[in-house]
Amino acid sequence: MTYVRCPEHYLFRYKLGIKRNPRKALKHGLALHETLAYHFDQKKKDGKGLKIGEAKEFFVDVFGNALEDYRVEVEAVRPYLTREYLSKERKVDVGELIDLGMRGLEVYYKKLNRFISPDLIEEAFNFPVTTGIEAVGKIDLTDKKGVIHELKTTRRSPNMQDIRSDPQLAIYQIGYKEITGHAPKALSKDYIVLSKNDSKIVRFRVVRPFVDKRTVLKNIMTVMEAAKRNIFYCLHPAESWMCSKEWCGYYKLHQELKKTGLQDFMKKYSKRR
Ligand code: SF4
Repeated sequence: MTYVRCPEHYLFRYKLGIKRNPRKALKHGLALHETLAYHFDQKKKDGKGLKIGEAKEFFVDVFGNALEDYRVEVEAVRPYLTREYLSKERKVDVGELIDLGMRGLEVYYKKLNRFISPDLIEEAFNFPVTTGIEAVGKIDLTDKKGVIHELKTTRRSPNMQDIRSDPQLAIYQIGYKEITGHAPKALSKDYIVLSKNDSKIVRFRVVRPFVDKRTVLKNIMTVMEAAKRNIFYCLHPAESWMCSKEWCGYYKLHQELKKTGLQDFMKKYSKRR
């Protein structure tokens, strides 16, 4: 999926193993994810799981630890990040993120919790793509009715179009079949839309995704083949917000790659691994 979103990002992160995008918002999302995963695990065992107060406490603890990691990560890559990126990160208010997390948990407990009886939680799967290539992944959550749930937090209200064509759902569908031996009843993307005054739940349910197994396998093979042949490029037009100094932790590398060309760039950074 990283390659599909930005082949150049894939080159830096996965081919060359360079990590350069520490973000408070990512740590926040992970902390919420971990809190809910723990809640589902408990709920599967005792039918109840964490109470809202316990979930909030758990979230604050996990987020606090994640922020410690964040500080270490920023220090490690500080010289490589742009001034604009660092300044944008500095402006992200931790108190506000905690507040948003609390509201997100409140709305989850109020609107969604009673409808979910967890079955598989963070369950690993794998399936062969072609000789020598295996797809591996994890399904966040399924319920006892055989529905796959992908629970996400977001700031923007999502739309149905994005969901139906999301290849990730197709991958989960194949993974579910590998684990259980049968197809899921449905797939549900459950979004906690975080907002200061109006956090809400938005759900999209599809019986099967638009993308089928053949297309998924073909796409994985194409991406792997492209990565093997060093086909990496910037997918975004010159003025894209994605390639901006504020947003992308790889901005300096992006400029260097543009200047030196792929061959010399690869020579320099492959040696460092
Ligand atoms: S600068 Fe643009 S092309 Fe390069 S990694 Fe970032 S988003 Fe991708």
